[in-house]
Amino acid sequence: MMNTVYTPQELDDKDPLKAKISEFSLPDNTIYLDGNSLGPLPTCAEKRASEVVCNQWGQDLITSWNKHKWISLPQTVGNKIGKLIGANEGQVVCCDSISVNLFKVLSAAIKMHPERKVIATTQDNFPTDIYMVQGLLSLLGDEYSLRFIEEDKIETSLTDDIAVLMLTQVNFRSGKKLDMSGITSLAHEKGILTLWDLAHSAGAFPVALDECNVDFAVGCTYKYLNGGPGAPAFIYVAERHQADYQQPLSGWMGHNAPFDFVPDYVPAANVQQNLCGTPGIIGMSILDASLSIFDDVSLKAIDDKSKKLQAYFVSELQHANLLDLFDVISPAIQERGSQIALAHDDAYAICQAWIEAGVIADFRAPNVLRVGIAPLYLRFEDISNAVRKLKVIMTENVFKEVRFQSKHSVT
Ligand SMILES: *Cc1c(COP(=O)(O)O)cnc(C)c1O
Repeated sequence: MMNTVYTPQELDDKDPLKAKISEFSLPDNTIYLDGNSLGPLPTCAEKRASEVVCNQWGQDLITSWNKHKWISLPQTVGNKIGKLIGANEGQVVCCDSISVNLFKVLSAAIKMHPERKVIATTQDNFPTDIYMVQGLLSLLGDEYSLRFIEEDKIETSLTDDIAVLMLTQVNFRSGKKLDMSGITSLAHEKGILTLWDLAHSAGAFPVALDECNVDFAVGCTYKYLNGGPGAPAFIYVAERHQADYQQPLSGWMGHNAPFDFVPDYVPAANVQQNLCGTPGIIGMSILDASLSIFDDVSLKAIDDKSKKLQAYFVSELQHANLLDLFDVISPAIQERGSQIALAHDDAYAICQAWIEAGVIADFRAPNVLRVGIAPLYLRFEDISNAVRKLKVIMTENVFKEVRFQSKHSVT
């Protein structure tokens, strides 16, 4: 076992990513195991926020759309995200939220397959993904339907009446990671278009959209990409589909000549068509700065460290005799993303007690304590300390105290 040989400090000393922690502005006395939900603040983002607000907006006013290239920020940022998810230039644009982007892509994709009327997904997909399909179906009419397929039977559930297969690569609760390459190619054999949600993938490990021949993808940037609360999301439309793609939220920023101010909508013939209204420049500028964190590290190195931290976490739980108390519902390390899910009937109260002790993780209904492992700023020593604190909470029944029992509105 790793930690019978090395102390956590020794493991941190050997860590090739150890210097990255200094690029984040982290609070004292906090161990952050929730970067899979809201990434922390990069110091470069803090600087950029003040630059964009005080100088660009404050001093240069409307001239900034040209002077500071605000107008092309959705494409600039989109291409930077593209590099992190294996997409060549011109296929990713930054805009809106995952939910809105799903609506655009699903609407466009279903029209590309007029003879097929089924959108398929897993029941355990993130709820907003499912809700957006349900909303779209109410516009499409009765011949269209949503089909739930089982997460462990996707490969055998792909039938040729399915127009679009919408999957989230990493299950938000269990952390299970799907085989993007295999599933996409099986779907294509049945003529099915694929839409991948990269919410828990982008910035966590290497993703190869082009290589896997993915048709469409969406993702958010406030999780592993550290773009800030409500930072704008992204859309990927494979180049081969761009000519036939038409999404219905036909706002002026997706027009092929928005500043001609003509009365008829003509979509841009590229991924830019996904822009709808005026982009939120402040949030997108902060995201743009945050992405520079990834300039000098590879996703492979991030993934390698994540696996080491996860293995270390589990071995520390074992040494603390805590593994028997929880049901580890995440699959084996090679088959999961950068998080571990521990099921326990009192998961909510345990999470609250852990937060009070300075360890921030999160709870996902009905009974999951979700531990996010974001290697850019987590140290082995943090993992060791987090487990030590959990041990106290469990052995002294701290989580049973009344103040940990009532739920806040955001879990
Ligand atoms: C976090 C997350 C979302 C969030 O969607 P927004 O519209 O950006 O709020 C959507 N899907 C998945 C799978 C997620 O994990």
